[in-house]
Amino acid sequence: MNTTGIMSQHLRLHGAEIIARYAEFLRFPNVTSDSENIRRFAQFICGQYSEDDVRMELLELPGANPIVYGELESPNASRTIVLYAHYDAAAVEESEWSSTTPWDPALFSGRFDEGGVRLPWPDEGTPIDPEWRIYARAAADDKVSIFAMLEALRAIIELELQRTSNIIFFFDGEEEVSSENLVQFMKANRKRLGMGDVWLFCDGPMHPSRHPTLYFGARGYTGVDITVFGANRDLHSGHYGNWAPNPALELARLLSSMKDPEGNVLIEGFYDLITPLSDAERLAIDRIPPIDELLSEELELHDTEGQNQTYHERMLLPSLNIRGLESASVGESARNIIPKEATVSIDMRLVKDIDPETLLDAVEAHVRKQGFYILRNDPSSEIRRRHSRIAKIVRRPSDRAARTRMDDPHAIDVLQTLEHLFPDTSVAAVPTLGGTLPLYLICELFEKPLIILPFSNHDNNQHAPDENLRIGNLWYAIDVMSAILTMSP
Ligand SMILES: [Zn+2]
Repeated sequence: MNTTGIMSQHLRLHGAEIIARYAEFLRFPNVTSDSENIRRFAQFICGQYSEDDVRMELLELPGANPIVYGELESPNASRTIVLYAHYDAAAVEESEWSSTTPWDPALFSGRFDEGGVRLPWPDEGTPIDPEWRIYARAAADDKVSIFAMLEALRAIIELELQRTSNIIFFFDGEEEVSSENLVQFMKANRKRLGMGDVWLFCDGPMHPSRHPTLYFGARGYTGVDITVFGANRDLHSGHYGNWAPNPALELARLLSSMKDPEGNVLIEGFYDLITPLSDAERLAIDRIPPIDELLSEELELHDTEGQNQTYHERMLLPSLNIRGLESASVGESARNIIPKEATVSIDMRLVKDIDPETLLDAVEAHVRKQGFYILRNDPSSEIRRRHSRIAKIVRRPSDRAARTRMDDPHAIDVLQTLEHLFPDTSVAAVPTLGGTLPLYLICELFEKPLIILPFSNHDNNQHAPDENLRIGNLWYAIDVMSAILTMSP
């Protein structure tokens, strides 16, 4: 995708300065747990936005990183948009970085692990290649959103364009630790935030096709750990093998009863609570650029689950995944034993309207049906003697899924803004993101449409060493943000 909007000239003229300003942003350490630096960065953001006439303040709660909050009215505005982003970053393991160090941004001619070379910072007038990448922690997740909003405001002033909506800026400082205080912050500021007619959640990677991207929801999350027990201690596999039952094998049998070879979950009721797709969603899915081939090639997969279904169709179903398995040891540290127990950690992604507890009940009913006696704690001697199969099940905290109607009038405004901005490229309007975000809480509290508007390249190494942002995505972010701030009222 190329910037075709009113901003393209502006970006060509000012590209070098914009990159320099972004580098300044990237030099602020902003790991969530680093309260001192996070506060410095919050104050810096306030200062920058104030220069563009946004009324800024830090919203505080005891012991929490502040919310960076701003309000900006626009003449004759008929709607208020809430722009969510987060100004904290995932933790860093500096020794694992190869491109640069996390807080010392560096420019490369492309992906450095694919031969990109380090470049000097460009001078004014140097032509800038959108394939360049800037490496630093938070370059993609999520400083780009906050920076793009700011640059868009600047450009609108410089180009004497008219803003058409009132804007509320809401920047979370704890997203990387599950936004622990988000709901409390929102409740405390319910009245002001309630003025918003539509929420744009600016975070996450764009669609792998690189097409302009909107996600209208996110899957929810829940999970369980299941431990299956054998004898009360590890046993010698010579003296006891063939006689004492093996919990690892019992667990393997249990797990294989949960899913068929095509990837369909066999737990009764697992797919019962799904809301059927609306016509708008069905149509949107058919229009999303296909990515199955691309992803299979990138990931070196021969085949995928759900044979006839595409990636995007699979994201609209709940999933059941083994995220870890443990029983005794393998390789060098393996011993000739019958392990005393085996544990699996399962995560499940939920789609709209599925109640996590109902799904967890269905999983437990399935385990029971396979002949297991279910416990919440480790079994007593008495229980071990009384039952042949014992499973300890521990439920983990859940997040519900959220999905905004694609035929909502505000959703249509945003979608059309992107379509006008990129007339030659189809917009990837995706009903749901595969991952989980705290959208449900916002939707429940304010009952307003919420759309995810991501800016980063999908291969940005988010949360990992060598995080990077493609310069073309930085231009895209500024371009899109300017269009949103000036979209027809
Ligand atoms: Zn993020």
